[in-house]
Amino acid sequence: MSITSIDQEYVARTYGRFPVELVSGQGSVLKDTAGKEYIDMGSGIGVTCFGFGDDVWIQAVTDQLKMLQHTSNLYYTEPCALLAKELCQRTGMKKVFFGNSGAEANECAIKVARKYSAEKKGEDCYTIVTLVNSFHGRTLTTLAATGQEHFHKLFQPLTPGFVHVEANHIEQLQEVVATEKIAGIMLECVQGEGGVLPLTREYVKAAAAIAKEKDIPLIIDEVQTGNGRTGTLYAYMQFGIEPDIVSTAKGLGGGLPIGACLMGQKVENVLGAGDHGSTYGGNPVCCAGALQVIRRLDEEFLRQVDEKSQYVFSQLQGSEGIESVTGMGLMIGIKTVKPAKEVVTACMEQGVLCLTAKDKVRLLPALNIPMEQLEKAVAVIKKVCK
Ligand SMILES: *Cc1c(COP(=O)(O)O)cnc(C)c1O
Repeated sequence: MSITSIDQEYVARTYGRFPVELVSGQGSVLKDTAGKEYIDMGSGIGVTCFGFGDDVWIQAVTDQLKMLQHTSNLYYTEPCALLAKELCQRTGMKKVFFGNSGAEANECAIKVARKYSAEKKGEDCYTIVTLVNSFHGRTLTTLAATGQEHFHKLFQPLTPGFVHVEANHIEQLQEVVATEKIAGIMLECVQGEGGVLPLTREYVKAAAAIAKEKDIPLIIDEVQTGNGRTGTLYAYMQFGIEPDIVSTAKGLGGGLPIGACLMGQKVENVLGAGDHGSTYGGNPVCCAGALQVIRRLDEEFLRQVDEKSQYVFSQLQGSEGIESVTGMGLMIGIKTVKPAKEVVTACMEQGVLCLTAKDKVRLLPALNIPMEQLEKAVAVIKKVCK
């Protein structure tokens, strides 16, 4: 039996997989069982931000792996403490809770906002405002937060206490805050799964001002946009705001599962002993990998992310068969004349792996993808789109 047919028989059919079995990777190049090579423009959905087989990352992870693999949160370990310190020092946030995924980071963010508001404004203040077309995860609560109805179907009842307002519509946000008891405002600065759509700077600043004025915790979901993806350590840094809560995951671990909920001054002491927890959260091996990732995302490195971004935008904008290019940094959405699925399949045949997001082709290459491979991949995408 082939691996494909074993997988199809025994793995839950939640994913529409491409007919490719990957076996190894080096840098931004992946190899399948037939030895065919692909330039990776998806990095495992924005996870392997330093590509595959990165020496520095592997060293950090294997050193820790050999020393101590897991402890539970009953004890202190160095990687967990140092990663939390690094994240706080680089963002101005005050406390970090570690989980294992984006959805878990958002679950924590929602719990923090609800507890803060319940203590300050009463237990009937629990509603979280999120945006139409947002994506916040697959657990029943983060699904409720997700403003896309097709994800909700047949999973009712979801966690109550979520309302969705139109993105970039300041009056709608003002109205909901004026008429309902609101415990939190949660948004992605660039809607990823929603089609790589950046919010306007005006809207993000207005949301932050409303949140501050009404003493409502502002949650920025940086699961996809975070960790250098948009050209700054976190995307909110380009919008001139200071969130109260930041959730992140995907690229944080560089390939290992880790999520983090960062809490600012307003909410830093909301969670006390017993309020939240995770058996694996803060795992020393994952934290050792993440610490390397965050330390390497310095100004010089982020400047290169920006340069690569400008190259991709300048190449694709106005190219035949391409209607528009959206996004920030190396989080890029392409509206193609041909259906996105068709473009992605054709790119795969030509040795380039791309993603989709709604009706867009989505690119999330490794942040350190060599220029030569980026040029090759962009040339293939342009050719396929014609
Ligand atoms: C991917 C994603 C999530 C969910 O992350 P998981 O690790 O799959 O749970 C949440 N929010 C955003 C913005 C995402 O892109």
